[in-house]
Amino acid sequence: MESSLAISGLGPYDGEADGMAFARDVRYCVYWNSKARYATVNILELRAITLAKEGKVLLDSLDMEIWEGHVHAIIGPNGAGKSTLANTIMGLSGYRDIAGDIIFDGSSIKTLGVDERARLGLTLVFQEPARFEGLGVAQFILAGAKDKSKKTLDTALEMVGLDPARYSSRAVDKTLSGGERKRIELASIQAMKPRLVMMDEPDSGVDIDSVPYIFEIIKELKREGSTVILITHSPQVLKQADHAFLLCGGRLVDKGPMDAMFDYFNGKCIPCRHIGKPAKEIKL
Ligand code: ADP
Ligand code: MG
Repeated sequence: MESSLAISGLGPYDGEADGMAFARDVRYCVYWNSKARYATVNILELRAITLAKEGKVLLDSLDMEIWEGHVHAIIGPNGAGKSTLANTIMGLSGYRDIAGDIIFDGSSIKTLGVDERARLGLTLVFQEPARFEGLGVAQFILAGAKDKSKKTLDTALEMVGLDPARYSSRAVDKTLSGGERKRIELASIQAMKPRLVMMDEPDSGVDIDSVPYIFEIIKELKREGSTVILITHSPQVLKQADHAFLLCGGRLVDKGPMDAMFDYFNGKCIPCRHIGKPAKEIKL
């Protein structure tokens, strides 16, 4: 029997088997087989990704599995390769000449350009908030939305705490603060409902009042089934994630549930022993 049920209430199921799961509550009795989509199905897999530039290895044989519908964080010190990894997954120019493979939704996207990856439902929110001189807020938010109704626009703006009556007809330009631009950009992501969104340092350059709205959008995206990757070196952003990967010197050095990854911020960059030392001293 084939099932598309997620196994809720049983915790992540991380294997492939045919059979039937029972729990005390009969509602949690589900069948599965190897074709079923589990709560932990991989929407994205990185297989031995290596990227070198100017003789320097920026990403070093990275293997990562990104579970669909979860919020993941990629943490690590400045220069660890976090933004490079996001750019590589998105396929930006200058980040395409990789060894290894990138599997999205079961197929390799290694040879696809940015537009093709975007059409599959991958998106990246850059660290620097968007500024498109001449583009209106409404036009910007609805650009990637399937449903381009006023309701979509109003809901997205309200969700980031911006009054549609005041903001819909404004331009995405320098008259908006960094926090407002970031909120509008995240409203556009909410309207787009991507399969997978990567957010590079979503709280950077953002006023303190805007931060809770950013976190609300992350929760809303998860509620609606999107997969989120937060790229950060901020403990408060890590807290929004279910699971985290620790990068250092372009290598994956640890991964685990969000709670377990806080040691990194407590000065214990396990298994790193080189906080504050130059990259050339890294010996992992
Ligand atoms: P993080 O986002 O973790 O702070 P980055 O991914 O921005 O780190 O940078 C990792 C390393 O890769 C840095 O040493 C940076 O100088 C280098 N790097 C990033 N992009 C390029 C590029 N296009 N060309 C050369 N070096 C790069
Ligand atoms: Mg970065």
